[in-house]
Amino acid sequence: MFKKILIANRGEIALRIQRACRELGVKAVMVYSEADRDAKYIKLADESVCIGPAPSKDSYLNMPAIISAAEVTDAEAIHPGYGFLSENADFAERVEKSGFKFIGPTPESIRIMGDKVSAKQTMIKAGVPCVPGSEGALPDDAATIKRTAKQVGYPVIIKAAGGGGGRGMRVVHTEAALLHAVQTTKAEAGAAFGNPEVYMEKFLQNPRHIEIQIMADQHRNAVWLGERDCSMQRRHQKVIEEAPAPGIPRKLIERIGERCVAAVKKIGYRGAGTFEFLFENGEFYFIEMNTRVQVEHPVTEWVTGVDVVRTQIMVAAGEKLPFAQRDIQIKGHSIECRINAEDPYKFTPSPGRITTWHTPGGPGVRVDSHIYANYFVPPNYDSMIGKIIVHGDTREQALARMRTALAETVVEGINTNIALHRELMVDAKFMDGGTNIHYLEEWLSKRIR
Ligand code: ADP
Repeated sequence: MFKKILIANRGEIALRIQRACRELGVKAVMVYSEADRDAKYIKLADESVCIGPAPSKDSYLNMPAIISAAEVTDAEAIHPGYGFLSENADFAERVEKSGFKFIGPTPESIRIMGDKVSAKQTMIKAGVPCVPGSEGALPDDAATIKRTAKQVGYPVIIKAAGGGGGRGMRVVHTEAALLHAVQTTKAEAGAAFGNPEVYMEKFLQNPRHIEIQIMADQHRNAVWLGERDCSMQRRHQKVIEEAPAPGIPRKLIERIGERCVAAVKKIGYRGAGTFEFLFENGEFYFIEMNTRVQVEHPVTEWVTGVDVVRTQIMVAAGEKLPFAQRDIQIKGHSIECRINAEDPYKFTPSPGRITTWHTPGGPGVRVDSHIYANYFVPPNYDSMIGKIIVHGDTREQALARMRTALAETVVEGINTNIALHRELMVDAKFMDGGTNIHYLEEWLSKRIR
């Protein structure tokens, strides 16, 4: 096992990884920007290093600063968390070339999966079902683009090969709008992701977002850890996640989970990863693979009993997976609400000083958050300030526990989306389970204030 790990992230996930390190008896080095100087998890750290000013590009995305921090503190490995440099193949490569372990897959795996076009081609070869669409990236030639769209069938979605975080996508309903949409998406993708390549997929009308968590070691062992339903989204961003996915026959899920494990073994993947699928009319369609720990990993941890972050660290240190597929049993139901510093109606970010913070508790309640009373939410980063996760023997019990937890939670000084979660937890359709990816946006458009 490592003696010391550097955590190249901030906020709740930095604290989550720090906790895993403590449990393993590994020292944690935290890096921070000037905006995060006062964060409590920095004070709790064994060591901490300031890596630059508030803007991410000067700190959490600053590769030389992070690698030098690892050098001066004698860390052996770097955990990238999610977001920032977690899916940056060049970073993973630089980390390993500088003599550190990257807690994640190989740079090659990240590169293949980070490009959605090559990811899709790899999955088709590995026997994972994908959304019908263009074979690879779209060419420049207008006639071919139109022909492809006709073959795929409208509506289609134009997606950036290098896209992520719900950005770089455009739905097209008619041929008249097609070429303009392709051009705009290309231009945006070039500017935002440094890669103007786009591809086309059939736009599925009412799918659910179902994803499979996998974990693999360096000794060709791989296991899938059940599924998560992340269909409650706003602007392609997840708001609520749960495990297991309500109402899908276990046989169907098992079949897709086994396919994912087979693909992982075929491509020699190591570490944690997530296969994201759209699920419609009983069929799964792969959309992308995330080569890192996900925000929503706690729901999987709770229904499987596997500590995802701890296992990531163990397999990066070269250890074998401490469990086999037969050991993975799904127990009960878990739900996660992402708590964002934002207006619960208009969704404008709400940074600033938190004056009051009462956390919920009791049986089956977990809070993953770095905030506290008098904490200042910096305006420079993502608005998520924590997650409330619950577990129950049944989905009904989990919902009841989430209602109680949300009722107990008090955040003052800034706006949060807690009011939104309270409303959703008593919404009849959500309570039934199995809402599709458009449900939340439709619900919001009809919401009465
Ligand atoms: P990102 O990497 O930005 O998260 P994804 O490819 O995972 O992009 O897609 C994000 C979300 O966009 C999905 O969860 C789904 O809501 C929507 N989406 C993506 N592809 C399609 C599609 N072919 N049909 C319908 N919705 C889609």
